[in-house]
Amino acid sequence: MISVFGSANMDLVAYVSKAPKLGETVTGHRFRTVPGGKGANQAIAAARAGGQVAFLGAVGDDGFGAEMRATLAEAGVEVRGLRQVPGPSGIAHIVVDDDGANSIIVVPGANGTITGPSGEDLAAIAGSSALLLQLELPMGAVVAAAQAGRVAGVPVFLTPAPAQPLPAELLEAVTTLVPNEHEAAAITGVEGPDAALDALLELVEEAVITLGADGALYGSRSGERLRVPAVKVDAVDTTAAGDTFVGALAVAHTERMGVADALGFAAMAAALSVQREGASTSMPTRREIEDALG
Ligand code: ATP
Repeated sequence: MISVFGSANMDLVAYVSKAPKLGETVTGHRFRTVPGGKGANQAIAAARAGGQVAFLGAVGDDGFGAEMRATLAEAGVEVRGLRQVPGPSGIAHIVVDDDGANSIIVVPGANGTITGPSGEDLAAIAGSSALLLQLELPMGAVVAAAQAGRVAGVPVFLTPAPAQPLPAELLEAVTTLVPNEHEAAAITGVEGPDAALDALLELVEEAVITLGADGALYGSRSGERLRVPAVKVDAVDTTAAGDTFVGALAVAHTERMGVADALGFAAMAAALSVQREGASTSMPTRREIEDALG
């Protein structure tokens, strides 16, 4: 079982010609609600890619919480560890203009009430084949979960987003760090993926820097280096490409694929997701990934 300990947010997306300035009101031309949050996205991506996945997190006692639980369950994600807490669910309020530029307000809601893994969470983590973490829960909770994984010998994957300083005790507990180029630069203070990868490997055993349409760069302390080409596609919406990549990578790892095959599997899953709109709605199934790999 792959455990994802992380956030569930309802994305509230308004499409406008031009985003409003402070104090201004504009009329938008489209609105939709999409279940998201990096934790929920990675859980759905991994389940669709063929993994057995449990989501550990929290939603509020509102309609958004019920919808997110249902979306996760429909994707085949085990939701016994998704608790309901009094108050609102986490939301991301997103404004997208006609150029595709966006501004986002995240209100953590229920996610912010998670001060650490519960006893049930710790048991689930200890029995997992992989643990996926991101930084949309309070840092103390992420660190405690990572340490529980490390102690139990479970591979710990960390997506260090949103970018922020990473405490040493978190890095010590992480097996595989999967930043994008900006996050890699923010963590290391080094520009350029090759140099940033060298710097990351001083901190963790294994790292994959995702490079958008340029693919990804993998390295491990044992000296292995791989450049993963991106699959050439017409991208429509790259939202959650990184989450799809990590979810699929964890599935491949759990199935003991070799590193090159695992990275190719993840890159294909992500390439398929960017050809469709939305986050959870855009993630490919195992069948689709295998068909595309040929
Ligand atoms: P997001 O924040 O949107 O989830 P990210 O910044 O975390 O994304 P990226 O580096 O943009 O992550 O993308 C992750 C992976 O998705 C890349 O390594 C690549 O394999 C794939 N990918 C992203 N954009 C494209 C694209 N335009 N064409 C093909 N593959 C892509």
